[in-house]
Amino acid sequence: MSSNEQTFIAIKPDGVQRGLIGPIISRFESKGFRMAAIKLSQLPLPSPEHLEKHYSDLSDKPFFRGLISYMNSGPICAMVWEGRDAVKTGRTLLGATNPRDSAPGTIRGDFAIDVGRNVCHGSDTVENAQKEIALWFKKDELNAWKSAQNDWIYEKP
Ligand code: GDP
Ligand code: MG
Repeated sequence: MSSNEQTFIAIKPDGVQRGLIGPIISRFESKGFRMAAIKLSQLPLPSPEHLEKHYSDLSDKPFFRGLISYMNSGPICAMVWEGRDAVKTGRTLLGATNPRDSAPGTIRGDFAIDVGRNVCHGSDTVENAQKEIALWFKKDELNAWKSAQNDWIYEKP
């Protein structure tokens, strides 16, 4: 029931190029989650293997090389969002991996068509969220602050 669960959310290069940083941030902000960190990734990324590490569980998929070059094709807006069930609810806000199956009202359902251009990433488990946050952010880039809205969002913070 922790209201401090963290998830790693990234706006992929297509989302950044299409001007969707604002709308995607708005979904998380208006849901009631708290932003703990944000940055636009440097290009080139700190190490060429960075995205291969991020997607290491997919390295044997046929679309892996295409996925890595897509993700390396422009800046990525990397974020950490925090709140109760942030990982699971974050995935719900994103919608199904393939936008063809994403419900209207979800980010992918509203803003994307192709699975290979699905505009955003979200961690799938709390354990992977912690790994991804450690891969993308230094400890001192995470900001612990209490939102003034806290008691209006949580019945029992
Ligand atoms: P996610 O956790 O919902 O992002 O989905 P996965 O972890 O399974 O896949 C990571 C990313 O790889 C997805 O968000 C897509 O951008 C891409 N991807 C997944 N499946 C496919 C596919 O069948 N074809 C292509 N071209 N890309 C895919
Ligand atoms: Mg995934």
